Amino acid sequence: KTPLHSISGCAELMLSGIVKEEDKPRFLKQIYDEAQHMVSLIENIIKISRLDEEADALPVDKVDLYEIAQTVIEQLGNKAASRGIVMDLSGTHVTIKGVKTLLYEMIYNLCDNAIKYNRRDGEVEVTVSRGRNGRAVVSVADTGIGIAKEDQERIFERFYRVDKSHSRETGGTGLGLSIVKHGAILHDAKIKIESTLGTGTKIILEF
Ligand code: ADP
Repeated sequence: KTPLHSISGCAELMLSGIVKEEDKPRFLKQIYDEAQHMVSLIENIIKISRLDEEADALPVDKVDLYEIAQTVIEQLGNKAASRGIVMDLSGTHVTIKGVKTLLYEMIYNLCDNAIKYNRRDGEVEVTVSRGRNGRAVVSVADTGIGIAKEDQERIFERFYRVDKSHSRETGGTGLGLSIVKHGAILHDAKIKIESTLGTGTKIILEF
């Protein structure tokens, strides 16, 4: 509820008439940003509660993971470019049976994090392939801040964020990886993580 406190606090100050004219745009921007943050939080909470309660009702189709990765990279192109980050996709078309919207959401969240927690002018490498055991594999690797060993398990918990101040700056809700975890359970997929602080992170989904 932190964004709501901030929205209500800013609005209250403006209503009381003590905010100077030249400060008003700053207050309005804060109200807008915090409202947007609240919108993403609520959207993510709705997604998670649907996964909890309606998972059985989700439509299962044949889904090409490579095509999904392509769409995600297109969607995130501007965000990556604004930070000088280059996104690259390699591998082959791999089809699995799954819930298309959820698989999109999972790959989107991983790529979005790979941009948010990257360095300026960094790289994101997405690979879709079939492992030797025949399993479909999607991996997302970045050249970012990395995740300490003790946080690597916890980042999949709801609302867990390693660096709260940084996550606020990047508009994080702490729910993205929780959705990835739910999606992985639903698709009977394993999540592996390889990460070194200051060097980068690779998250692998093995279906
Ligand atoms: P958020 O909305 O905060 O990004 P997530 O559930 O997606 O929430 O991720 C939880 C936390 O895990 C993030 O706040 C961040 O601290 C850490 N994290 C996730 N992905 C990465 C990554 N690729 N590199 C470094 N840290 C990451």
